[in-house]
Amino acid sequence: MLAVENRESVLVIDCGGDVVHRLLACGVDLDKITGLIVTHEHPDHVAGFPLMMERLWLGGRRDHLDVYGIAPALSQARRIHDAFDTSSWPQYPGINWHEVPLAEDSLVLEDSAWEVRASPGKHTVPITALRFEDRYGGGVLAYSCDTSYSEAVVRLASEADILVHEATGQGPGHSSADDATKVAIESGAKRLVLVHLPPEPYLEGEEIPKLQETFSEIEKGVERGRYSF
Ligand SMILES: [Zn+2]
Ligand SMILES: [Zn+2]
Repeated sequence: MLAVENRESVLVIDCGGDVVHRLLACGVDLDKITGLIVTHEHPDHVAGFPLMMERLWLGGRRDHLDVYGIAPALSQARRIHDAFDTSSWPQYPGINWHEVPLAEDSLVLEDSAWEVRASPGKHTVPITALRFEDRYGGGVLAYSCDTSYSEAVVRLASEADILVHEATGQGPGHSSADDATKVAIESGAKRLVLVHLPPEPYLEGEEIPKLQETFSEIEKGVERGRYSF
């Protein structure tokens, strides 16, 4: 899970756990959330959707929530959400579903705060990597989501200020830290943050310093970390 924030809006990307709890722990104003993007149908990316809606409602949200994603990701979110009967919850927010085509450089959304584009990655199910451009400062963040090395992700991440790339480990459908570094170099990204790391000790010792010999601005992402772009 991650979120991008500028002065006008917060967009949440995936909700595999209790995303509202994490946002509050990071000091994010829930009223600034203008949308959720779900990248794919796997539980670690979408299973927390009904909980997110419940917590936003309990937190006072009455406006609808815009939810964006490719068709299988949206259907998964809808199925999980509809497993709970919210019909008697007063003023429960509506959900506006926005399907994103599974094609390279698809427009996800464009408003006064953001331009967001998507391209397919290579995972075990259909998936979208994402590119966010902040319409105020012009900063660009790209997110690989779950994927093995992908040339479409290289193109999507072109000249990004930050590339957030998964480094679960060698595939199928996932990347090693070497793969992520290759994407950062080929895309011309300025900084690489490695995420979606396995729970056991990982990329410790000499691995990161060794990768820094080819791409200096590389780091392991930290839980509840904040990064400016
Ligand atoms: Zn996955
Ligand atoms: Zn995943």
